[in-house]
Amino acid sequence: MKRLICTALFILLLSGCALQNASRTVFHMNTVMDLTLWGGGEAVLDDLEELLSSLEKTWSVTDPNSPLSRFNRGDDTALSQVDRLLLDQVTALSERTGGAFNPNLYALSRCWGFYDETYRVPTVQERAAALLEKKWDLGGVLKGYAGQQCTQLLSHKHVQRAILSLGGNVQTFGEKPNGEPWQIGIQNPRGGDPLGILQVQGTMAVITSGDYQRYFEEDGIRYHHILDAETGAPAHSGLSSVTVVCRDGMTADALSTALFVMGLEAGTQFWRESQDFEAVFVTSGGKIYATQGITLTGCAFEVISR
Ligand code: AMP
Ligand code: MG
Repeated sequence: MKRLICTALFILLLSGCALQNASRTVFHMNTVMDLTLWGGGEAVLDDLEELLSSLEKTWSVTDPNSPLSRFNRGDDTALSQVDRLLLDQVTALSERTGGAFNPNLYALSRCWGFYDETYRVPTVQERAAALLEKKWDLGGVLKGYAGQQCTQLLSHKHVQRAILSLGGNVQTFGEKPNGEPWQIGIQNPRGGDPLGILQVQGTMAVITSGDYQRYFEEDGIRYHHILDAETGAPAHSGLSSVTVVCRDGMTADALSTALFVMGLEAGTQFWRESQDFEAVFVTSGGKIYATQGITLTGCAFEVISR
C-alpha cells in the first residue's frame, strides 16, 4: 500500500506588498501556517500563535486528553458553554448543506486511518458501524474558524492589514495599501504551477478542499480524506478541488467541504440558492468552473451564472 500525505501549502500567496511589517511560519493543527502582518509586530504574532494553539488544544481529535476527545467519550463537562455554542453553529452549517458537511464523522475517519496514518480500506460492516457513532470532528471547519478568530484579534490590536495562510486556507484582513486586490493562487490539484490567480478585496476567507491534501492509494485507487456519509467512503463527486470565497471563515470552510461532497451540479444549485459565497470548482478531469462573482486570472474557465 502506498501511503501519501500532502502537507504542502495548496494556496500560494502572491501578496505583492512592499511594506511588510512582521511574518512568521508556524506549525499548528498538523499543518504549516504563514502569518504576515502590516501594522503589527512580534507581540501580535505571539498572540496569534497563542490563539491558534489554544484552538488546537481544545478541538484536537488526536490528543485523547483534549476537551473534545473527552466530550466525545461522554464527559459533558469537558467543553465550556462557549465551545458548546460553536458546536451549535457547526450543526446549523451541517443542516444548511443537507448533511454533505457532516461534523460527526470522527469514527468513520478513524476507521479509514486518517488520524494516525494507519490507512486501510475498511469493510462495509466497519463503515456502517462507524456511521452509527456520532462523534465530533471539526477538521472540516477548524482552520476557517481559526482564521476568522484571528481577524477579531487583529482588529483589537489595531493591525492594519494581514494575510494568513493556515495550511493553505487563506484569510485576508483589511485592504492592501494601494487599494489593489489581494492575489491568491489556486493550487493545481495534480501539482505544478498554480492553476490561476484569485483576486479578493478586503477581509475575506479563501478556503480550498481537495482530494490531494490527505490521501493514500491502494490498487491504483486514490482514497482521500473528505468522506461522504451516504457511502461511508471518500466522496466520489467528480471533483478534485473546491475553493470557496466568503466573508465568514467558518462558513467558507464548511461549504468547501460540503461542495466537494455534493459535486459540480448539486454544488452549483446550492450556490444559486445562496447569497453569501462564491466558488471555484476543479473537476477530476482538470476543467475549471467559477461562479459569476469570482475574479480569476491566468486560466481558462467556464462561468457559472445565477
Ligand atoms: P476540509 O479539508 O476542510 O475539506 O476538511 C476535511 C476534514 O474534515 C477531514 O480531514 C476530516 O477531519 C473532516 N471531514 C471529512 N469528511 C467530512 C465531511 N463530509 N464533512 C465534514 N467534515 C469532514
Ligand atoms: Mg472545510
